[in-house]
Amino acid sequence: WQTILLDLERLYNEDIYAELFQPITSTYKYQNGLITMVVGSEYIKNRINKLYIGKINELASKYSDNPVRFKFVSQEEITPVEEPVHERKISLDYRQNNLNSTYTFDSFVVGKSNMFAFRMAMKVADQPGAVANPFYIFGDVGLGKTHLMQAIGNYILDNDVTKRILYVKADNFIEDFVSLLSKNNKTDEFNTKYRDIDVILVDDIQIMANATKTQMEFFKLFDFLYLNNKQIVITSDKPASQLTNIMPRLTSRFEAGLSVDIEVPDLDHRISILRRKLHNFDDSVEISDDILAYIASQFTANVREMEGALIRLISYANTFNLEITMDIVNEALGNILKTKRKSDSLNENNYDKIQSVVADYYGITLQDLIGKKRHAKFALPRHIAMYLIKTKYNIAYKTIGSLFSDRDHSTVLSACEKVEKDLKTDSNLKFAVDSIIKKIDSTLLK
Ligand code: ADP
Ligand code: MG
Repeated sequence: WQTILLDLERLYNEDIYAELFQPITSTYKYQNGLITMVVGSEYIKNRINKLYIGKINELASKYSDNPVRFKFVSQEEITPVEEPVHERKISLDYRQNNLNSTYTFDSFVVGKSNMFAFRMAMKVADQPGAVANPFYIFGDVGLGKTHLMQAIGNYILDNDVTKRILYVKADNFIEDFVSLLSKNNKTDEFNTKYRDIDVILVDDIQIMANATKTQMEFFKLFDFLYLNNKQIVITSDKPASQLTNIMPRLTSRFEAGLSVDIEVPDLDHRISILRRKLHNFDDSVEISDDILAYIASQFTANVREMEGALIRLISYANTFNLEITMDIVNEALGNILKTKRKSDSLNENNYDKIQSVVADYYGITLQDLIGKKRHAKFALPRHIAMYLIKTKYNIAYKTIGSLFSDRDHSTVLSACEKVEKDLKTDSNLKFAVDSIIKKIDSTLLK
């Protein structure tokens, strides 16, 4: 602890250090690698458990050869007092508002890809309404946006059980708008739900695209909450400036707040996430570092999928009472990995790479290659691109058509057949296609 204290002093500002860490001296218990430390108050305990425990455990594992973890308990906890029964009840009531209590800051693993988002989220949670409003989190699917957003809600609620937090997915907001306002005119019910609150968390705002009337209502709500200094948190799969079919008066409001993005975690970070998830299972589950690293290496772009694989592996091993070895991993996850590899190879944007190479070769734009113009200058390269995608990936003609302004099956089919036939007789065409293939291969290797 003394060694860790030195690091903490270096890492955090003086006040935090002096208030939270410095006074902690007594070890209460040491058992099975779990070190229990006593702190002065519930408040300090909560702060440490919410905000710093991850860091502390990280340092602990740096300094100890054996796996150790810290747990902080308050003085009150070890000198038993009566449960504050009703307080707990209130808090549970409010938790009905869609918050998942496992999505906390503490269970969120911080790394380079989400550091800034995490730090700002903590600040927002510390002073709702005062730091960044709205707070806008964007990033690809499965990277922890919902988790982080809910962590803000849980943190605020933990600090003050009277706070009214509302988490809502954008699609549920649309449903409420339709069923309460536009169909049944239950304005009171709608307003009680959405206006009588302190914090609103709106998840996946991009879903509101094209729902113009809902957007107008959301705009009114937004201004109402904003003017009353209520914290607004929004997530999306893209930056506010790139939201399509969301009215500009909304996107400009979003842009006026603070935007943070979450990127794909690197390998080490993914391994740490797996480790943390493993902690959630009971202590009997053991998975070697090699295996964790292997799983992390297979799921590069989506933490949710990676977590799903871990859960599947553990259930599989538990059901058959097996020790988790590499063979078991392949048995349990073989199918998932196979389909994943297939879809990855489809998703790696190789299609548009092929399209770009062909367009480049013929000196036309990608839009013209994909587009509707029938001039031979565009039609030939277009047919070649279709043919190349077909021969390289053997995907359905209809799927290829969808990559070229939604052309239908038969258009693509006849294009491919024509190129194939012409290649046999037309040596210029053959030369061109061969050169393009070389280009594509070297581009795809990069
Ligand atoms: P998104 O909303 O961006 O699609 P979620 O927040 O639903 O993603 O995250 C998907 C899953 O991955 C959740 O179970 C979440 O707990 C987990 N997850 C994502 N990032 C992290 C992280 N940094 N630390 C811990 N768990 C994470
Ligand atoms: Mg989400």
